[in-house]
Amino acid sequence: MNVNKNTRVLVVDDEESLRGIVTQVLSEDGHDVTEASSAEEALEIFQKGSYPLVISDIKMSGMSGIELLQEIKKLNTDTQFIIMTSYASLDTVITAMRHGAYDYLIKPFEDIDLVTAVASRAIEKIQLIKENQQLVKELLLKNDDLKKANERLVEMAVRDGLTGLYNHRYFQESLALEVVRSLRYGHRFSLLFIDVDNFKHYNDAHGHLEGDRLLIKLSQTVKEQLRGSDIVARYGGEEFVIILPETTREDATQIAEHIRTSVAEFPFKGREIQTTGNITISMGVATFPDDGSDGTSLIKHADDLLYKAKNSGRNKVCT
Ligand code: GH3
Ligand code: MG
Ligand code: MG
Repeated sequence: MNVNKNTRVLVVDDEESLRGIVTQVLSEDGHDVTEASSAEEALEIFQKGSYPLVISDIKMSGMSGIELLQEIKKLNTDTQFIIMTSYASLDTVITAMRHGAYDYLIKPFEDIDLVTAVASRAIEKIQLIKENQQLVKELLLKNDDLKKANERLVEMAVRDGLTGLYNHRYFQESLALEVVRSLRYGHRFSLLFIDVDNFKHYNDAHGHLEGDRLLIKLSQTVKEQLRGSDIVARYGGEEFVIILPETTREDATQIAEHIRTSVAEFPFKGREIQTTGNITISMGVATFPDDGSDGTSLIKHADDLLYKAKNSGRNKVCT
């Protein structure tokens, strides 16, 4: 059964009677056949519009079927090519196959059904190639979706749900990595530990939801003061940490002061109920390896200095 109907086929032969037979058979099979009486004419037709199937004689005056095959493969590698040859020149079949011909027909045709059968096989291949290309296209799109979903998942796993800053776990991993890097390259790095001043008071006055909104806004304000290589994370509650790679204590203190004033000066909503009239933060600065031999001792040092900042009146940076 021939299920492959309506394929555009280009039939090429300088022998009119043979061309006529092939055309008639394929037309009866339901295909859309175009005839050419030379390879040159066929090429001209093909250049105007591609054909998925070309059936061509090999020996023709002028350009040969093999040359036509080569030209057509250059124009469209997916086009299937069937050659027609006589028993006498059967050796040319091998040459044609080497150049990418799909199949061949021996002239004169022993059985006319052979034309249908050979054409059907070629058309089946054409359709398989088309389906395959479609599947690959769909697969690539799905792959892209999957990649994007995966990237989002990875991103979600390292981010704090409320503020969008890095989470505690990511901070701990980054800190460990920074310690290793610092030891290897002999560079210093610094750590800032931040705590919002009198946040309980803000929460009590405006409610927890407003408190959350303040934490989000505050996170943005802090982040805006940093460089791309700095890592800012929510340590927990209203506490934040910042890793400043390749940064000395002096530079880190300057950055900390800059963050502190930026926050104190920012017109946060509802800030007027705080005793100072502003939202303020306190900070401890620790530098590796001077203030600790590993991540844990560095955090402890920064936290101690934060405590000191709180005890000396808040809205302070202690180093
Ligand atoms: P201090 O200046 O000593 O840091 O005073 P404080 O009030 O900020 O400190 P305390 O540790 O007593 O209170 C912190 C408050 O932060 C208590 C808690 O309700 C609030 N808090 C912690 N996490 C969140 C949060 O995710 N959202 C909100 N809205 N509040 C939080
Ligand atoms: Mg706290
Ligand atoms: Mg606090």
